Amino acid sequence: MNKKQLKILRELLIERQEEILTQVGASTDDINSLQGGNAADWVDRVSLDDAMNNLMNKESDLARELERIFEALQRIEKTGFGICEECNKEVSFERLEAVPTARFCIDCKNLIEKRQKRGSNFRGPSSIPSEVFEWFD
Ligand SMILES: [Zn+2]
Repeated sequence: MNKKQLKILRELLIERQEEILTQVGASTDDINSLQGGNAADWVDRVSLDDAMNNLMNKESDLARELERIFEALQRIEKTGFGICEECNKEVSFERLEAVPTARFCIDCKNLIEKRQKRGSNFRGPSSIPSEVFEWFD
């Protein structure tokens, strides 16, 4: 993935983040500060914590999505964005463009879905811990 693609995905994430925050009534100041500073500045913001708490109470699905967006943005700032957590290969840009918070490449996603369908009796050679499914798209 090149820098231009990474920038596009970062913008997609921030756009979606703003949508969610608007939906749950975060103030315009909060949103502006998210867009202005770099991730290191806003990740720990108290006002953002408040917004998250409100989210947790109101819309747990949105809160989950927002948390995934935060995680993805942190991965962009630090390391690991666009790398499949299962096979450590690069996730395709096309997939990330469709699902910027994706943590698995399409092959692994399909594999995991198959395993899920087979039920809990199935034990593959590299069985994935159950908590991985929680944030699975
Ligand atoms: Zn993979």
